[in-house]
This record gives sequence, C-alpha cells and structure tokens, in this order.
Amino acid sequence: MLDIHRIPVLKDNYVWLAHEPSADVTAVVDPAVAEPVEAALRDRGWRLTHILNTHHHGDHTGANLALKAAHGCTIVGPAADRARIPGIDVAVADGDRCRLGAAEAEVFDVPGHTRGHIAFWFAADRALFCGDTLFALGCGRLFEGTPDQMWRSLGKLRALPGDTRVFCAHEYTQSNARFALTVDGGNPALVRRAAEVDALRARGEPTVPSTIALERATNPFLRADERALALAVGLPPDDPVAVFAEVRRRKDSF
Ligand code: ZN
Ligand code: FE
Repeated sequence: MLDIHRIPVLKDNYVWLAHEPSADVTAVVDPAVAEPVEAALRDRGWRLTHILNTHHHGDHTGANLALKAAHGCTIVGPAADRARIPGIDVAVADGDRCRLGAAEAEVFDVPGHTRGHIAFWFAADRALFCGDTLFALGCGRLFEGTPDQMWRSLGKLRALPGDTRVFCAHEYTQSNARFALTVDGGNPALVRRAAEVDALRARGEPTVPSTIALERATNPFLRADERALALAVGLPPDDPVAVFAEVRRRKDSF
C-alpha cells in the first residue's frame, strides 16, 4: 500500500509524496519547490525515485530540475505537453500505466485547465492525483481548454469508485464552497459539507483529500447534468456542457 504524505507549500499548494515501502521507492507529485520536499524526504528517510507531473504550470513543475539533479529521479509527465515539462523522461497518455514499485497508476488525459493535463489513478490504493483538474468542491480554470473538454475530463474522474481519495493540488475548498452555495444552495449535502469545511479551516486543518463520492454529491462542476443546477443558472436541463460552461463562467468572476 502507498504511504501518502502531504507537503503544504507556497500560498495554497499541496505537494504529495507517495511512498511504496516494499520496493522503497517514492514519488513526489507536482513539486512546486524543492526545499520542503527535501525536508519531508529527510524526515521520513525516504529516497526520491520519481516525479509525477500532472501539468506544466510552474507551481507544479518548479522543482523538477533541482530534484532531478539531486536525486537522479525519473520524471513522468503528460505526452501532450512534453515540450513544456522540464526534464521529462517518460511521457504518458490516456490508458498508460505508471509503476511505482508494487503500486501502479493508470493515466487519464484530462485536458481543460491546460491542453496536456493528466491524472494518475492508483486503483488498488484508491488514490487519485488530479492536479488542477478536479478540486474539492471545484475545478480548474479553463486556461487552454473548452468547457466541453473539461466536462468530459471531469466525467472520467467522476466515474471512479466512490471511495477513491482525491488528492488535488490546492487548498481552495472554503472559497469553492462559498461559490458552490450560490448555484446549489438547495443541496443539503453541500450545505452540510460547507459547514464542515468552515470548521476544519477555522482549526487550520486541511480539507484535502476528499473522495469521489463526496465530490459527486456536492461539487457543482460534477453536477452540471443535475436539473437543480440547470434551473439555478437559468438553462434547460438537457445540455450539461452549457450548464457547466455557465457555472464555470460565474466562478471565474466570483
Ligand atoms: Zn495549474
Ligand atoms: Fe496549480
């Protein structure tokens, strides 16, 4: 089983370490900065063998070259964006497998936030590393993709088993919750969750990872095919892409 450790960095980023003990290998997911990663590795006595990048943004790849120079680790990233991933060794795409000792991830192409965004799903561990595609109660901004692309990308993640843990790359949950209530305030599961998120943040605690089941029930960006969401944004209930696009547009200026 993977031992997964959180490293909060910068303003609101989460970098994740995933350690596979039987082979004594460790991956870092989306290393924004090197020093906190080095410190976490030292504390645990873990050896860095892999970098997994979900997309090219600097707050996800900033430490690639420094960590590779220090550890000689293998960098795995999206094939569709290989030219923008510093130091990339292995380019992967939808359906590829990525081994980490005895653990194995399936790769999903999830474009929308960037054109070459991928997610890593460790099925046996029920662990999803989804970068800036799916957030707790939110989704990434559409910098390089269309609403249709992002809706399909999120659909792949929504279809995973409900007990899948969602290790996203930012702690945006509290502001996401405030927005979610403006479009899905009649959803009792969302109202309950928003209160829980406020309580966690008041104690300075993280709200990530969440689960796919919880996101399906409460994340408005996974619920664009729900009648209540369509009604809330004044659109017909038979066009989830249009509803998704409108919800995303409103969030952009929230
Ligand atoms: Zn990003
Ligand atoms: Fe980011």
